[in-house]
Amino acid sequence: MEAKQYVEQIQQYLEEKDPNQPEFLQAVEEFLPTIVPFLEEHPEYIKHNILGIITEPERMIQFRVPWQDDQGNWRVNRGYRVQFNSAIGPYKGGLRFHPSVNLSILKFLGFEQIFKNSLTGLPIGGGKGGSDFDPKEKSDAEIMRFCQSFMTELSKHIGPNLDVPAGDIGVGGREIGYLFGQYKRLREYDAGVLTGKPLGFNGSLGRTEATGYGAVYFVKHLLEDRNDSFEDKTVLVSGSGNVAIYAIEKVHELGGKAITCSDSNGYVYDKDGIDLDLLKDIKEVRRARLTEYVKERSNAEYYEGSVWDFEQAADIALPCATQNEIDEAKAERLAANGVKVVAEGANMPSTMGAVKVYHGKGVLYGPGKAANAGGVAVSALEMSQNSQRLAWTKEEVDQKLDEIMKNIYETCRDTAEKYAEKDNYAAGANIAGFAKVADAMIAQGLV
Ligand code: GLU
Repeated sequence: MEAKQYVEQIQQYLEEKDPNQPEFLQAVEEFLPTIVPFLEEHPEYIKHNILGIITEPERMIQFRVPWQDDQGNWRVNRGYRVQFNSAIGPYKGGLRFHPSVNLSILKFLGFEQIFKNSLTGLPIGGGKGGSDFDPKEKSDAEIMRFCQSFMTELSKHIGPNLDVPAGDIGVGGREIGYLFGQYKRLREYDAGVLTGKPLGFNGSLGRTEATGYGAVYFVKHLLEDRNDSFEDKTVLVSGSGNVAIYAIEKVHELGGKAITCSDSNGYVYDKDGIDLDLLKDIKEVRRARLTEYVKERSNAEYYEGSVWDFEQAADIALPCATQNEIDEAKAERLAANGVKVVAEGANMPSTMGAVKVYHGKGVLYGPGKAANAGGVAVSALEMSQNSQRLAWTKEEVDQKLDEIMKNIYETCRDTAEKYAEKDNYAAGANIAGFAKVADAMIAQGLV
């Protein structure tokens, strides 16, 4: 069968099978057409129906999570773990706690995670999980009770050689700590069962910073390839979680200026550059909203709505908030305002329409599965340290992260040149990530 016809058939099958999973269908639709030229050279993948098999998760677990709030009411949420692909290592990927979480979102995230993890060059499969639990305005004790109940069920399905969850939106060091404590209570002390652990009990130095730093390293290598650098570049950032915070930190360290950040209500514009100490205090210590920022920084401005509707000249955009935050019109605005590079700290923050605009207007585009792979890469380094019962220095981890991001950038660049158009890093990431997993699947007898 022709490659083009084959991928269309897979897409159509999934659309008929899962019409209520728009985010998953979008992630697949973004992926499939880009690998057609590669399939044309490798008909063995078509013969083995690799795409039919790879788009089907190996296993999905759904469970109820009952928990008690501070008023004594019994509440219930849905918990999930999507174990998507274990061809090259144990399932690996974060847990997301957010009211929008459902199977469509987790299948999109799990699907992307397969190729992202493959691109890191480290031995990790793809998975994702989480809950529709909303951590906003919950007390510490409520978070703890929820995490304990969630892990009571999840502990039956994970393990250092089986599935190693970590954080994502709504799950940081505090939540991982509670989840780890409950796992230990039910099973045994096994550091390798979760990553993103606090430093005091087997976490890795540099893990918190890794996704944000990694996204900036990706752009740094892309710029270096063009004899350019972050020096004096103006950068738009969305989000204010740990991806955004550490992306901003690294931009400033490399001589650029990040002038925005956002939460789900609005965004801050600080023409002097985001004050990181203040931002960290608001988000990490006070766990408060961004409206606090302008109360303490008189030159900064706060606006409701999306930061991508802000008319502001800039050189680089780093979307670090969530999926589908940049649509076609917002992408047009970025291009019109002079943005030359978009690198995704978040997972699938650009719609397919937006990606078309980037490619049409010559905006260099680093897709999430390449640009934000630094987080999961350092998670894999945390697994290595846990196995060795050793802790590496911050410098050692950071240097490895930088090397991994350089390698990912070069792999995307070279693969794009070989199979797609020059600078089409989305195609490069998809093909390179896919090839390794597909070969492993065939070698293992398609299991
Ligand atoms: N949630 C992160 C991601 O989207 C990190 C996952 C991990 O460290 O396992 O890649």
